[in-house]
Amino acid sequence: MSALIDQLTARLPPKSWTADPEIMASHLVEWRGRYRGNAPFLAMPSSTGEVSQIVSLCAEAGLAITPQGGNTGLVAGQIPEGEVLISLKRMNKIRSVSTDDDAMVAEAGVVLKSVQEAAESAGRLFPISLGSEGSATIGGLISTNAGGVHVIRFGMMREQVLGLEVVLPDGRILNALKALRKDNTGYDLKQLFIGAEGTLGIITAATLKLQPRPAEHIVAVVGLDSPYAALKLLHHMKLETGAVVAFELMNAFATGMTLVAYPQLRNALPGWNGWRVLIEMESVRAIGLRDVAEQALSSAMEKGLIQDAVVAENHAQAKEFWRVREEIPAAQRTQGAQAPMDISVPVSRVPDFLRDAEIAARNVWADLRVLAFGHAGDGNIHYTVMQPPGPVNEDFWKACPALIEAVQDVAVGMGGSISAEHGIGVSRREELPRYKDHVTLDVMAKVKAALDPKRVMNPRALT
Ligand code: FAD
Repeated sequence: MSALIDQLTARLPPKSWTADPEIMASHLVEWRGRYRGNAPFLAMPSSTGEVSQIVSLCAEAGLAITPQGGNTGLVAGQIPEGEVLISLKRMNKIRSVSTDDDAMVAEAGVVLKSVQEAAESAGRLFPISLGSEGSATIGGLISTNAGGVHVIRFGMMREQVLGLEVVLPDGRILNALKALRKDNTGYDLKQLFIGAEGTLGIITAATLKLQPRPAEHIVAVVGLDSPYAALKLLHHMKLETGAVVAFELMNAFATGMTLVAYPQLRNALPGWNGWRVLIEMESVRAIGLRDVAEQALSSAMEKGLIQDAVVAENHAQAKEFWRVREEIPAAQRTQGAQAPMDISVPVSRVPDFLRDAEIAARNVWADLRVLAFGHAGDGNIHYTVMQPPGPVNEDFWKACPALIEAVQDVAVGMGGSISAEHGIGVSRREELPRYKDHVTLDVMAKVKAALDPKRVMNPRALT
């Protein structure tokens, strides 16, 4: 094996790879430290040609590959287990921005924040926004079809992609880097690679859609009695303002735990101990959005949908309101044994899911805490069942698979999904046969076999 690696690396451009353990170390550990991997070497190509050359040589030598972007993925698909690791981080150029086309061509290794900033400099908006935006790359975001907080208005990553450039598992380059809004000339091949988690090829660049920049921006936090009220509020606010871009539900435990863990954070509703929703609204034209939002919230209160509400006075306060929502995952990590899930159900079923999932979980383990928060406007809840407060409970850890199954069965029974936006990767692969039908699994396997018969690309992930 080491002779094979020596032969292969001798044919690579000198700066395009390393086997230095110090340089490789941070690429081999998942960001939470949950998964540690190994690789014979780390390839760091700086051009599509170099990616193609590396993939061709690996395919010829029968060596499997794990592609990696910012290493922020949540299901371990980016951590190699003996495969050659290809980091796209050096492919970090924004090739072009066209305001006439409302489009940008970015290489796979460009970090999301840089794409947002480049769009802003051009007087446009790139609307994907999520907690990892300072590190996650365009290639990784497309490969996981990432969602985030603005899906309710702009859709997931898939909806932002007009074209792709991809290096296929045999090293050939598929050039579908168009900026077309309409193109009915056969299979829309780029869609195959979006959400494929690096199993069908390596994305090297993408044409991304840009949006008009908002002129007005309002953030409000409301207190309400139940998720049923939140569902009614969602539609009320959509109709009354026409401007909802984020609708984030949090149960009392989620905000309480976070405010205790980070006492410096601002509690938007100090007297309220129930469910909360953070609503973000934007309008492209200046329409007096603050008045519109306040009127909509007043009428929601008159109708009995909400009990309390506060609208951020300015941008700084809006950011403070968001921080409580954003810090929930970090606060969560200090709470001992827990089973986190990334559920989606049809928007209309979110309240029923929250009711029935807790009953199902308590049938497995009666004494637990439920942490529920997330993108309720998209039907996506980050749902975690946790041990009671106290030292780490090993028995609870052992019960986690049964707890996950009980909750996920409820979601799928309502027409939902076990992975709304994080993907399947390596860590959740064994769960798929329980929740995907045979025909779907068979078609997925056939697509993989057609594009990657030697299973070169990320062979341990997804399929
Ligand atoms: P990596 O983690 O490096 O890779 C992810 C997967 O994509 C792997 O399977 C890898 O093999 C593959 N891959 C990477 N680059 C390429 C490429 N160029 N070509 C082919 N395959 C490739 N996700 C959401 O959807 N919504 C959220 O709100 C959200 N919030 C997050 C908050 C935090 C704090 C963190 C850490 C993560 C969050 N995520 C969220 C996870 C999100 O999926 C990842 O942040 C991101 O999509 C992955 O990008 P990356 O560049 O880090 O890819």
